[in-house]
Amino acid sequence: MRQDQEDPYQRRSARAYAAADRAGSGSVGSPRGVLYDAVLLDRDGTLIEDVPYNGDPEKVRPVPGARAALDRLRAAGLRLAVVTNQSGLARGYFTGEQMGAVHARVEELLGRFDAWLVCPHDDADGCDCRKPKPGLVYAAARELGTTASRCVLVGDIGRDVAAALAAGAAGVLVPTPVTRPEEVAAAGWVASDLPAAVDEILRRQQAVRPATPPGDPVRTALVVRSDSAGDVLVTGPAIRAVAAGAQRVVLLCGPRGRAAAELLPGVDEIIEHPLPWIDPSPAPIDPEVMWGLTARLRAVGADEAVVFTSFHQSALPLALLLRMAGVGRISAISDDYPGSLLDIRHRVPVGVPEPERALSLAAAAGHRLPDGDEPVLRLRRDAVGPRPADLGAPGYVVLHPGSAASSRACPPDLAARITGALTAAGHRVLVTGSSAEREVTAQVAAAGGTDLGGRTDLAGLAAIVADASAVVVGNTGPAHLAAAAGVPVVSLFAPTVPFGQWGPYRVPTVRLGDAAAPCRDTRAASCPVSGHPCLSGIDPVEVVDALRAFAVSGGGGGR
Ligand SMILES: [Zn+2]
Repeated sequence: MRQDQEDPYQRRSARAYAAADRAGSGSVGSPRGVLYDAVLLDRDGTLIEDVPYNGDPEKVRPVPGARAALDRLRAAGLRLAVVTNQSGLARGYFTGEQMGAVHARVEELLGRFDAWLVCPHDDADGCDCRKPKPGLVYAAARELGTTASRCVLVGDIGRDVAAALAAGAAGVLVPTPVTRPEEVAAAGWVASDLPAAVDEILRRQQAVRPATPPGDPVRTALVVRSDSAGDVLVTGPAIRAVAAGAQRVVLLCGPRGRAAAELLPGVDEIIEHPLPWIDPSPAPIDPEVMWGLTARLRAVGADEAVVFTSFHQSALPLALLLRMAGVGRISAISDDYPGSLLDIRHRVPVGVPEPERALSLAAAAGHRLPDGDEPVLRLRRDAVGPRPADLGAPGYVVLHPGSAASSRACPPDLAARITGALTAAGHRVLVTGSSAEREVTAQVAAAGGTDLGGRTDLAGLAAIVADASAVVVGNTGPAHLAAAAGVPVVSLFAPTVPFGQWGPYRVPTVRLGDAAAPCRDTRAASCPVSGHPCLSGIDPVEVVDALRAFAVSGGGGGR
């Protein structure tokens, strides 16, 4: 194993739930390389029909197809737990004994569950376990001998999905007639019913395992990920998978992704070159430049190439150049017919998280993450710069208002109000941004934070983020730096691209903003709607509450 794969640098910042989560893995002896050990299921409206405050076993009615779906999960080796809010206990509508009889009846009809986790409290009790708080998810993971990020939770309302995300687990929403439309819009993963949710869980789990066992090690693999820092960072797990089966990995990236490429474990050499069919502001095609790129690719001497793209990008122009450069085996995702350009043409349904989408391509090419390497974002420890000494102790909150795409940036006046609210709640706030964003960071920090605008490159920002207790950020590169450090994210997510594909991956997350705003799925780089309504309606109190859900407290800086 490579040195840079042995020492996950995010453990350095390991402090609370999230960190404990990363430290453990595979303790239930799961097959290596898989995404999940366990499926957590909401009870009422998900497993059985919702009969409000039911204490009567005779009234238990499973949803259609539940037994067979659960048995498919059991047969695949997944552990099952029920995670359920039962405030009827607090309100005295039924007794613990009656609830026990209901649960016995559920097991009679649906088979055994490996654990039952019940929150007996009411909203007014302020407990840590009532969903959308993440306490039940952590408790279930612990009881099942795994970690929250290796769990997927299925539920019928927004509270279920929010609890899953706040713990760093995956969340699938299975809407019923009582599910509110805004909850459906906000969910990153929606299935039509329980059997469909189960099918997709099993499909995603299978998709990251190579169909054929890894063959002889590849001498040199060329991996490709153009576009920006975030795109490169989310491809990290897939690149590590390729690196596990290759003696040498060369990464072709664009100028905007170079700094992120430098941070990725598993990369031995970087070639930086813009690809005009990918870049959002492309230069005209210059035949001399393309011949030069082809010659450079030929000089790599790659045995195989794996071309990673987003769903709206085409791998085929580069595949042609790679063929002309003599690369023998080329793999890529392509909905367009590739003719003889690809040896492995992979297809992926929409909605799959980008890191998994890329991992599934690596798997189609025969590569998988090695034992002990969790499918999380990670950075090279030796590439992350030291944190400036004048920032004080770890445990601050990083607020990063900007984004290369203005449609995904936090409006400066909102960021200033968030800074004020966090400061008032006792948090130390560091405001980060690029040199070009210095005016904004100064304005935001004036509300009570420390202005770090223009003070860091990406590696320096990664170091600052790694010692934060949480990061407040839009859908942009630093959100993925936080995910790579295991630092919880308050995601001010403009819905221009799907949250399920681009949300922070496998890290505790609270999503804020209007997921149904008119900019939804437009992929707009600048906001197409006046007033930036998807984010401008966020109440700074929601950010303070999100930190509380992560158990990040103001004052001492601990969590
Ligand atoms: Zn509770």
